[in-house]
Amino acid sequence: MDDDVIIKRLVVGSLSANCYIVGLKSAGEGMVIDPGGHGQDIRRAIDETGLDITVIVLSHGHSDHIAALYDVQDRTGAAVAIHAEDADFLEGRGAYSSQFGISYPTPHPPDRLLREGDIIEIGDWEFTVIHTPGHTPGSICLLAGDRVFTGDTLFRRGIGTTLMPGSSRRQLIESIRTRLMTLPDDTIVYPGHGRETTIGAERRDNRYVRGDW
Ligand SMILES: [Zn+2]
Ligand SMILES: [Zn+2]
Repeated sequence: MDDDVIIKRLVVGSLSANCYIVGLKSAGEGMVIDPGGHGQDIRRAIDETGLDITVIVLSHGHSDHIAALYDVQDRTGAAVAIHAEDADFLEGRGAYSSQFGISYPTPHPPDRLLREGDIIEIGDWEFTVIHTPGHTPGSICLLAGDRVFTGDTLFRRGIGTTLMPGSSRRQLIESIRTRLMTLPDDTIVYPGHGRETTIGAERRDNRYVRGDW
């Protein structure tokens, strides 16, 4: 299956968020995770993969992960999926919305509200929604075999900020310990910011996960 897998990472927007284009060559189908900015670059990258994008999944609702959502929605016609508890972030405030000093075209309402355990299918590849509240109430991770997309829940040697309204440090640590650190060591982590890592490396070297901070 690995030869068939496309995972393309683009660093987008003023806060350098990771946007992933993920799909299967054989199925010709893919999804976009977190279109956080630079819509034109994302659209060009989608064209390069040749994938038909059927769903756009948001790891959470912060602007640095959704600023190019309207653009990518418009271009692909893909359904938008976000956890029910973060759906408010997409609510229209006129033609343009703004969050944390980032202004962006207000996206259309989401097509699918996600919950713990939901499955997103790309061809015959299944992604399971893991609800990991803490950074935001509706933060999710997406698990597919030995790969997990962690949004702003877990980074390489770091964790998402909990200084935002609605964030909870206690909940974030709990989510990481009970929902991510229970995965096998060789699970590859694709975070919302920065380079990829593994569950094993974070279990060993991430001081927030270890608890010595
Ligand atoms: Zn965030
Ligand atoms: Zn972020």
